[in-house]
Amino acid sequence: MKASFILITLLFSTFSFAQGLDRLAEVVTRTDKNKPIVDEVLLTDLISSEKFEGKYFKIVSGKSDEAVAFNDSVELTLRAATTYYHLTRARQYFVEKVKSEYAASLPQMVIRIELTNQFSELGHFAHDNLTPQFNNALTIPAGEGLASKGVTPWGMEIWFRPKKRIHLRDIQTNDLGNQEFHVLMTRFRNQIHMQSLTRFLAQLVIAATTSTDTLTKDALIRTAGSSIIMEAGYQFYEPISKFFSRKWYWLDSALVPEIIYHEYAHAALSDHLELSHSTATIEGMADFFAGQIANSPKLAKKIRKYNTFNGKDATKKQEYMLQFEATAYANTDFVFGMLWELKNILGAEKGEAFMFELRKKITTNSSVRVDLIEGILSTCEEVCETPFLDKLRILKALNLRGL
Ligand SMILES: [Zn+2]
Repeated sequence: MKASFILITLLFSTFSFAQGLDRLAEVVTRTDKNKPIVDEVLLTDLISSEKFEGKYFKIVSGKSDEAVAFNDSVELTLRAATTYYHLTRARQYFVEKVKSEYAASLPQMVIRIELTNQFSELGHFAHDNLTPQFNNALTIPAGEGLASKGVTPWGMEIWFRPKKRIHLRDIQTNDLGNQEFHVLMTRFRNQIHMQSLTRFLAQLVIAATTSTDTLTKDALIRTAGSSIIMEAGYQFYEPISKFFSRKWYWLDSALVPEIIYHEYAHAALSDHLELSHSTATIEGMADFFAGQIANSPKLAKKIRKYNTFNGKDATKKQEYMLQFEATAYANTDFVFGMLWELKNILGAEKGEAFMFELRKKITTNSSVRVDLIEGILSTCEEVCETPFLDKLRILKALNLRGL
């Protein structure tokens, strides 16, 4: 009797592990109207019954190698569950929808939440004292490690930084402290559209927290998407503390679905787009697929609105500027908006397949004006049904954007 019970238990657990374990968990997700809510969802493909470790993702806190336990603090488990859930969705999209063999072949990825260290190509983590990072996320390439310093090799990872709240009162630049969030956004849209929102706010944060310009270019290089993606993430509401404010700014990147999709897209596209640094091309591609995975009509409307028109009263499309090629402007919405528009010209389904093929014709270092356009045209040559006519339509659209 006892033996058969053990046998059944053994068989059952073997069966469960082969299938992957499922578990209900609370995560931050979005309503049909794109509002963030905490909802109970099913986490799939887990290989542990105690912690956030699955076949494809292991969620750890900071520099730890151990997965976050299901019974850890709410602060940690909500972020672990949210990243796990949306990463699983993003992976499913790449494997099932666009049929990425590369995404299907990726080994389990380590996902770090609440990590403030900068990335070091040699040491994995830069020294703790080197400008801690907040309010962003990044995807790092695999590294060989440094045996002499005890640094073991690591695989491709995604890092989500903790949030850091900045009060408007502490933002002294140009009297912005007296402005409400929507006023700040309007100003950002109308006057500083070419910069990424994160850079814009980061500058305010530096002014508020330090007297010297310690946030170097390197620290700004990797952000969590273009300003549209970022804007979706700037929240006035904290799901755990129920804190609500229009006077505080923060980006809780591990709780923002679009940012999680953006980072996974970097990983899934890295078979051709190397994770060396941020450029308009690589960020635009990651944003495009983040937008596709989010598949939200509200977000699509926002993308159309902000990318088709430059400013409230302007009637022309956002035009190309030479500055977009510079790293500092890698997170502008320009390439994202352009790819989104071309997708609609080619038709939603065909356009999506087109953009996935496009990654083979470009590199992270591709310039927008020359290489990206050449890549788009040669992709069309291969996959468009009527290449001559389609290329004309593409060129016309590009022309209207000043390219
Ligand atoms: Zn990015």
